[in-house]
Amino acid sequence: MTEKEANLSKNFMDQISPKTQFKKNKINGIKKIIAISSGKGGVGKSTIAVNLAIALKNLKYNVGILDADIYGPSVPKMMGISEKPKSEDGVNLIPIKKFDLQCMSIGFMVSEETPMIWRGPMVASTIKTFTNKVLWDNVDFLIIDMPPGTGDALLTFSQEIDIDGAIIVTTPQDIAIIDVKRGIEMFKRTNVKILGIIENMTSFTSDDGVEHFIFGKDGGKNIASKFNIDLLGQIPININLRKNSDEGSPFVDQFKDHQVSKLFLEISNKITKLLNN
Ligand code: ADP
Repeated sequence: MTEKEANLSKNFMDQISPKTQFKKNKINGIKKIIAISSGKGGVGKSTIAVNLAIALKNLKYNVGILDADIYGPSVPKMMGISEKPKSEDGVNLIPIKKFDLQCMSIGFMVSEETPMIWRGPMVASTIKTFTNKVLWDNVDFLIIDMPPGTGDALLTFSQEIDIDGAIIVTTPQDIAIIDVKRGIEMFKRTNVKILGIIENMTSFTSDDGVEHFIFGKDGGKNIASKFNIDLLGQIPININLRKNSDEGSPFVDQFKDHQVSKLFLEISNKITKLLNN
């Protein structure tokens, strides 16, 4: 695209979608809100959200996790939660405690069979419930597992909730990277600070010690430098990250001293520094 064409396209976007100041809501009982997003599904957004939450808790913070992925809530399964949240007054929901985290999920409220067409219009009311009717108890960091993509759901969340920082999860693959660019633009337009990118499934090391770059090399790193955004970390493919998620026992909880858990700790340290500044 020439510079002239790029300017024309930017002016056009500014006209149809001006950078507006939205009235954003805080969530009661929460100090900082971190949104975990991804340009597309299947890149490991929920896996990263759950394990980051555990890593932050291991740094002695009070942590909550809110699964707002209306299209495929997976936090209950990844954390092995099958019960429903309780309510003492029939209105306000008490988050479920597991692994010392306070957890709430759209998956607790809707059955797996609820069709997506109903879920779409539920976005606004879901946000209201999560912002007004959950009794979060003195949470330092709330990790929100966002719906994938840059559709209505993510846009509404970004406009209505006062998110302190967003993290974009991607694989190094070209096709995933294209969607990351859209995500960056959307957060910029809704005035959400981007904390950085986490590249997931960076490489796989086979038993003979050889590192294989299955989804390509450094895609996340390159896009981070192109948009002048931090690359917060690169998480390799590890069979137990998948297995433990399936079994409802998060990797970072079970393998505290593993190299991969240390990567999650490093990322958590960076996040706390970025948010406390
Ligand atoms: P998303 O939330 O982006 O849809 P998930 O977190 O559900 O993605 O991950 C998709 C699948 O990939 C899951 O089966 C998960 O266990 C697996 N997975 C995610 N990250 C890794 C990883 N680094 N190594 C191995 N498996 C992973």
